[in-house]
Amino acid sequence: MRPNTMTALEKSKPEEGLWMVQAPVPEIGPDEVLIRVTKTGICGTDIHIWNWDDWAASTVPVPMITGHEFAGEIVEIGKDVTGLEIGQRCSGEGHLIGTESRQSRAGKFHLDPGTRGIGVNEQGAFAQYLKLPAFNVVPLPDDVPDEIGAILDPLGNAVHTALSFDLLGEDVLITGAGPIGIMAAAVARHAGARNVVITDINPDRLNLAEHVVPTVRVVDVSREDLGDVIAALGLKEGFDVGLEMSGSQVALDQMVEALVMGGKIALLGIPPGKSPVDWSRIVFKAITIKGVYGREMFETWYKMIAMLQNGLDVSRVITHRFGVDDFAQGFSAMKSGQSGKVVLDWSGG
Ligand code: ZN
Repeated sequence: MRPNTMTALEKSKPEEGLWMVQAPVPEIGPDEVLIRVTKTGICGTDIHIWNWDDWAASTVPVPMITGHEFAGEIVEIGKDVTGLEIGQRCSGEGHLIGTESRQSRAGKFHLDPGTRGIGVNEQGAFAQYLKLPAFNVVPLPDDVPDEIGAILDPLGNAVHTALSFDLLGEDVLITGAGPIGIMAAAVARHAGARNVVITDINPDRLNLAEHVVPTVRVVDVSREDLGDVIAALGLKEGFDVGLEMSGSQVALDQMVEALVMGGKIALLGIPPGKSPVDWSRIVFKAITIKGVYGREMFETWYKMIAMLQNGLDVSRVITHRFGVDDFAQGFSAMKSGQSGKVVLDWSGG
């Protein structure tokens, strides 16, 4: 039977922290489903919300149940929903889109300007139950466990970025060895890149990158020169494709320098503010730059599940697991800068 209340992690007041509360179980509409959440991933976005920085304070209404990376099981189905069943294991796209905009009408749902995010603008997934439009549900095949289902959102960022350009036989430079950069390295490998190099200045993250993707070449750019790495790899002119995951101006400059003429860059990292860019260098090198937002609905989801079923292994990027009662430890692990993905388990509650 459907309970009336549920445990949830909520931004209850406009200050640092999250609070475990009892909240009403959401009522679903005719086009929605109710999902019993089993696992959730903590995202950098959730850390911004925990810290209540300027972005969070100006974006997130309070109170708000946070969280958008989840896996679970469908327990209730709206009367107009077809094609989904009670008991179906699933993850889902946390961006709730409109259908009126030019891009939505063109089928490019992830580019809808009216997008609202669960856990940011709408009640989120850090709860025992989540209400979601049936449109956003992504069923999980039996061979994709809930724990991986709970990190498909950031894996989707990695896949969307990495598959922005053809990587087959290419030499790929990734700047920023956070969990998404590391997963992008795994995807680049899976997609047939020849050399995959990942840079950072945090040795813990580079160690994790090597642990998750043993065939990646890690470079601590505070100690090693990227030019020497290019020479050691025998790359005559540099990398073909760059995936910028750090938001660091220095990293972007290094990337532009390290690319071949006509190289391509996909940008996922978000700089903290306006930053100076040497555009003339980019023009003279004839570089293509693509900004990447979210995941393509639902092509990115299709591709990443297919790759997971065909040998893509990102499981070691999950470094910490906590029961939801210990959520504060999970957030501390994230804030330490020494973790990969942190997954909270909701199944005990
Ligand atoms: Zn996320």
